[in-house]
Amino acid sequence: MMKRALITGITGQDGAYLAQHLLQQGYEVYGGIRRTSTRALWRLEELGVADRVNLVDFELLETTNLISAIREIRPAEIYNLAAQSFVGVSFKVPTFTGDVDGLSVARLLEAIHVIDPGIRFYQASTSEMFGKIQQTPQTELTPFYPRSPYAVAKLYGHWMTVNYREAYGMHACSGILFNHESPLRGSEFVTRKITMGLAALAKGGKTVLELGNTLASRDWGHARDYVVGMWKMLQADVADDFVLSTGETHTVEEFATLAAAAVGFELIWEGEGGSRKARDRKTGKEIIRTNPEFFRPAEVDLLIGNPAKAKERLGWVPATSFAALCEEMALADMSRL
Ligand code: NDP
Ligand code: GDP
Repeated sequence: MMKRALITGITGQDGAYLAQHLLQQGYEVYGGIRRTSTRALWRLEELGVADRVNLVDFELLETTNLISAIREIRPAEIYNLAAQSFVGVSFKVPTFTGDVDGLSVARLLEAIHVIDPGIRFYQASTSEMFGKIQQTPQTELTPFYPRSPYAVAKLYGHWMTVNYREAYGMHACSGILFNHESPLRGSEFVTRKITMGLAALAKGGKTVLELGNTLASRDWGHARDYVVGMWKMLQADVADDFVLSTGETHTVEEFATLAAAAVGFELIWEGEGGSRKARDRKTGKEIIRTNPEFFRPAEVDLLIGNPAKAKERLGWVPATSFAALCEEMALADMSRL
């Protein structure tokens, strides 16, 4: 019999890549989708899998929904990817973010516990939980110090996952994933905002790209590689928590410079931390400037993860380099315009 998986947040970046991966592995894939006036299936369509997944009504805030979906589908594995996933917005909607990203993990775990504790569970945790970093590089043992309502909510979800594993012996894994991007990344995240803005400028657009803290550093990988790690966690005999990262860190400016090169600009940066600017060397045209509006009330300045445990226990290594990621995203946005 085909193995069944339920992915919450299937319309998101990771949901689409994970659906594609599970289909390739021979799974029957169910995806939780919340009712909206316009169905956002574009990511599943771009990967050519929209017709091959079964969509079910799924609202994380509605316990009855979670219970009925799990009862009907009876999946062997549940991947909880659904979330209010944007750190910036979480400062504006802190309690809503806490409900969706934190409490809902308890709703789901308890539903699994009651219906069938044998269902394997993946929780989408995040490197943002390390926040104001206490150790470099960050591992599964690094103390957490969340710096946003998003990270605080995710930390609750992380510990709930650990708690259900320890209290009831459930196969529940928390994947502490560092930033992962792709051409399917949401447009509010800095990488995609940059590649969309650069593509518009390269096509003759006049709007200078405005960013916040361009000196922030992240450990950026490709979502296509990271979903394989999620799946491997649920195939392991013993459930555990794993960092998935590349082990490299780069500034927002480095990302922008490489993405710009892929669309024909050579960026020259100038100015102090709070007001940086980038021009194109050949034309002198202003390409990027900073705008205080995009700075955060509390910032995570630098993240760099150590993926050694995932490599050793799961045989997981990221396949895509930072340069290849920048180029793929920039070229994808060029060809979309
Ligand atoms: P996206 O924002 O692209 O996708 C989020 C998904 O969650 C969407 O399908 C969205 O549905 C769904 N969703 C949001 N709220 C609800 C709700 N109340 N009920 C049901 N579904 C809901 O995120 P990513 O794919 O980038 O990330 C996947 C997960 O991994 C998230 O939990 C994120 O926080 C976490 N994560 C991501 C990292 C990254 O770098 N990408 C790093 C570490 C963790 P809709 O389409 O209707 O909005
Ligand atoms: P995050 O790590 O989950 O918050 O992912 P983001 O892509 O939203 O942000 C990564 C880093 O880029 C953070 O340190 C942001 O402060 C920084 N950044 C700088 N300018 C911008 C911007 O215009 N938009 C976003 N989203 N982030 C920005």
